Amino acid sequence: MSQPTAGPTLRPSTEAPTRWRMPYAETPKFLQIETMVTCNAKCPFCPQHEIDRNPNRMHDEMWKKIIDETRGLGITYRPFLQNEPFVDKRMPEIMRYIRKDPTAKIEFNTNGSLMTEKLNAEILDLGIDIMRFSIDGFSEEVYAPSRVGLNYERVKERTTQFLEMWRAGGYDKDCYTEVRMIDMPENRHQHEAYRAYWEPLCDEVLITELYEWPWQSQTEAVRKPCWKMVDAMYIFSDGRCTLCCWDTVERGVVGDLREASVLEVWNSAQYEALRTLLNDGRRELIHLCSKCDAYKNHDFSPYEVHPPRTDVLRAREES
Ligand code: SF4
Repeated sequence: MSQPTAGPTLRPSTEAPTRWRMPYAETPKFLQIETMVTCNAKCPFCPQHEIDRNPNRMHDEMWKKIIDETRGLGITYRPFLQNEPFVDKRMPEIMRYIRKDPTAKIEFNTNGSLMTEKLNAEILDLGIDIMRFSIDGFSEEVYAPSRVGLNYERVKERTTQFLEMWRAGGYDKDCYTEVRMIDMPENRHQHEAYRAYWEPLCDEVLITELYEWPWQSQTEAVRKPCWKMVDAMYIFSDGRCTLCCWDTVERGVVGDLREASVLEVWNSAQYEALRTLLNDGRRELIHLCSKCDAYKNHDFSPYEVHPPRTDVLRAREES
């Protein structure tokens, strides 16, 4: 007599939806500060040029307050948000203020177009921990459509000059440099030549993927946590804080440094509630994140947690 084959499971599933416990830092490790709203490029893939925020230039009292309140915490300061950092002529002054704290680090992402010999000497001497140059192409014709408003030859020349000064001055012991290009069909044939030129000059060449900013074309949220706010805080020119560096139009404001300190905002109930929602993968309940598919293919399984089975059953009985 043949054995009956297994039929479909008739009992309701007791599997709980996946949750994660992300390694949120007790104090921020990275502070990204929009000291200027302006950028000197109008790249078609970046919504920066649509931003209309006041003040255009962060008041001196605000960036000083941020730095003063976080001295001694081992913070890595990134004095830019979506803008080009060296549009702000105060940058050496801001760096000097940060450098009064021996635990602080400084990082820049730049398009390289505004670097002069004098500025290079000044900021290398003040101390940079990481310098990243974004150069999307290895010829004027490939570069120009993606970095609108910038001159390719000038960017190449100025970046090369910075890297030569960095190496010759022995700054390569403490400062890490990277030249990166966004991978696009238009520049794929240049990857090899790009690497051949830049690799001997810097620490690393990176060919990176183009990401989609939230609310660009996404229609729904993915059910995943997120890395963005695990250890970083992002501050607009007026002192409001947002939970993501991709928040161009203030959809994710979580506090205001005109009324509170950096650590008060970081430890606020509002921030905590958002961390809990992201731990639950509930991006759809966060306005900014509700149309964002960042990290959709990222493996978060090391951070997965599962409630004990009894808790799941009890929750089902109570519902
Ligand atoms: S889910 Fe998207 S919008 Fe939200 S914090 Fe993460 S990257 Fe930013």
